[in-house]
Amino acid sequence: MARHLESQLDFIFFFYGLSFILLGALCLVLARGQDDDRGATIRWIGLFGCVHGANEWLDMLALIAGDGTEFMVVRTVVLIVSFMLLAEAGRKGGETHGLPMPGPWIYIPIFIGLGAIGFVDGLASAKAAARYLLAAPGAVLVAFTAFTGRNDDIRINRPLMVGVTIAFAGYAVAAGMIVEFAPFWPANSFNQETFLRVTGVPIQLVRGLIAVALAALVWAAWGRRVMEKLDYPGYSLHLKRQFIDVLTTLLLVLALGWALTNYLGEIYREGVESEATGDVTLLVSGLERETAIADAMVKALAASPSVQPMLAGREGNRVAELSLLELDAGVIQATRGLIVNRAGDIVGSSDSSDQSWLGMPNLRSVDWFEQSIAGRAVHQIRVDPPQRLRTYLTASPIRDADGEIQGVAMLETSLETLAELMTRFDQAFFVVDARGLVVITNRRDELFRTLWPRPDLPRLQIAEQFGASGRPMLAREIFGGDWVEFGGRRSYVLRQPIDGTQMSLILAIPVKGIFASRLLGIIITLQVAIAALFYFFGMDRGVRDRFERQLREELLIQTEDLARQAATDSLTGLANRMKFDARLNEELSRSLRNARPFSLIIFDIDHFKEVNDIYGHPVGDQVLVRLSRTVDASIRQADLLARWGGEEFAILLPDTDAAAAYETAKKLRLLVAHTIFEHVGTITASFGVAQVLPGDHADTLVARADNALYRAKLNGRNRVELSLPVIEVVELSPTA
Ligand code: GH3
Ligand code: MG
Ligand code: MG
Repeated sequence: MARHLESQLDFIFFFYGLSFILLGALCLVLARGQDDDRGATIRWIGLFGCVHGANEWLDMLALIAGDGTEFMVVRTVVLIVSFMLLAEAGRKGGETHGLPMPGPWIYIPIFIGLGAIGFVDGLASAKAAARYLLAAPGAVLVAFTAFTGRNDDIRINRPLMVGVTIAFAGYAVAAGMIVEFAPFWPANSFNQETFLRVTGVPIQLVRGLIAVALAALVWAAWGRRVMEKLDYPGYSLHLKRQFIDVLTTLLLVLALGWALTNYLGEIYREGVESEATGDVTLLVSGLERETAIADAMVKALAASPSVQPMLAGREGNRVAELSLLELDAGVIQATRGLIVNRAGDIVGSSDSSDQSWLGMPNLRSVDWFEQSIAGRAVHQIRVDPPQRLRTYLTASPIRDADGEIQGVAMLETSLETLAELMTRFDQAFFVVDARGLVVITNRRDELFRTLWPRPDLPRLQIAEQFGASGRPMLAREIFGGDWVEFGGRRSYVLRQPIDGTQMSLILAIPVKGIFASRLLGIIITLQVAIAALFYFFGMDRGVRDRFERQLREELLIQTEDLARQAATDSLTGLANRMKFDARLNEELSRSLRNARPFSLIIFDIDHFKEVNDIYGHPVGDQVLVRLSRTVDASIRQADLLARWGGEEFAILLPDTDAAAAYETAKKLRLLVAHTIFEHVGTITASFGVAQVLPGDHADTLVARADNALYRAKLNGRNRVELSLPVIEVVELSPTA
């Protein structure tokens, strides 16, 4: 799990960076138009998100394209700047909520301190210190600010702010307390490596997930703000739905992108692995060919009839010359051959003057003899420490006619020529013995060093023997194929045992290309994510415009409705006094402007009190309604009937002179008098008519019509009276 996730660091850096950049952008949008302290805090968080996201992508690039000192310095500076922005957000937030905060001068000593640490102790130490000094307090203060201000802004609701609090508190731990290894406390005892070892999860993954959560929370907060601004239930519902849609889409894009990235990496990996397998087979078969010849030779020697006499007797210290062996040894470059009897005494040697053998005549306790005399095959690659000469030693038991083991034949052949040949191979390879000691390699510096740490074999022991020093190239022993850091570079390392020996061959292929393949997956993921975001926000614009339009239309309808309500009499549905006055003024000015006549009729129901008294108020109301409808239906479209008040009505007659209005009033009087009202039967009304005169105002015109009505009442009711000054006009008029 841990190793798989480690191999995914590039993608983890990618989505970690993406989330932070989204978080940053959202915060900057959210802070727009907020000029208070709260806006300032959010703006600093936005800047932090953008810079920190960029830093993660730089880390990803370093992983993919390789790192360098300058690049490392740049990345460290960007990281420190991003944490400073976070710290500033926290400082501002703390100030807003009344915590005693140092001024911005605090960054000067911190910067100087971090620079000094970086210079003296290395960049990792500077990063670790920046996390402790800037990221941790910054994130804690931002969490505090979010928690304290959870009720401040009703637009961004409580659970969201509590979520932001938890996320920043988590970030304070994940990014501010779990730091790079550094040679000071607590970074030296608790750091990213410890976390990875204990949990099996790279801390970057945890930080990345926090960043995703934060981005989602801030986004939800932003959505709430928009909802508040455009207070419209339809749009809020759309935003909620869109939030879920975008979140699932982005998570889906990330998941599929991750799978694609892995797939592309896998294709490359398979290529590398099959290439490595081919190379290893080639190298191992070269070695095995060399050893196979020696193995065949020693078997032939053991079976040779000339060795039996040697085993039969030994005279003093004299050792039989192995002329046959010498000859064949020449062919295979054997450095020496030996015939040893059952007791461990050398009875035949290719070089009888070999002092090392004569000095140790009995081989009973030598490992290869012990094994061979017990009937086990012996194939060893040996290194002679003083001269560092590498040889292959093979031994075969010598059996008599009954198959009983009577002695051992041994051949030791030099591997120097083969080793020399093998160094021309281009990929780094290592032939290691059972201890992990490199005995043959084309990487000169690694010769006679252990490839991986062996707790059972103190490094000192080997260092003493071969004068080797330095750390092992691999962090752990490799079995089969593995993708590991090898000498600081990510490599594919393949180990293959060499048949019949305790040796194995290890091939290491550095694999920058795998990241290039994976980068393709990452870029595709990024593009799809951006396309999805553009799609959603483009769609959102459209939806928002539509809702805004809809909202405007609804408001317009509501306004019109209200205006209509204000102008209408609720009982009869006729225009009310207010509406009537407005129309009257309009008509007045129009008639004066165009020199067109216009008239006014006012009528009042006769003895209406009695109707109420006898039949009750509701019946009176019904009479009013019925009368309104009847009169309204019989006047012209251009005329306006209004309820003047109580059981009094007024009719405005544009383009109508007094004579025509008088006729209309008479017609209406008859209409009223002939209408049968439910319960009540018939009623009558009295009418007053007046025409507009030059210099008339609304008041004067109404007063004259009212006067006429009054006269109608006086003169016995159920009649029409015309306003006096116009009577002459009517009489003089030829049309009257
Ligand atoms: P006249 O006009 O012939 O002199 O006699 P009247 O009985 O009609 O007297 P007046 O116009 O002064 O009385 C108005 C009456 O109309 C008073 C009130 O009871 C009645 N009235 C006014 N508004 C309404 C209304 O909205 N519904 C009902 N049912 N009655 C109303
Ligand atoms: Mg009346
Ligand atoms: Mg009245």
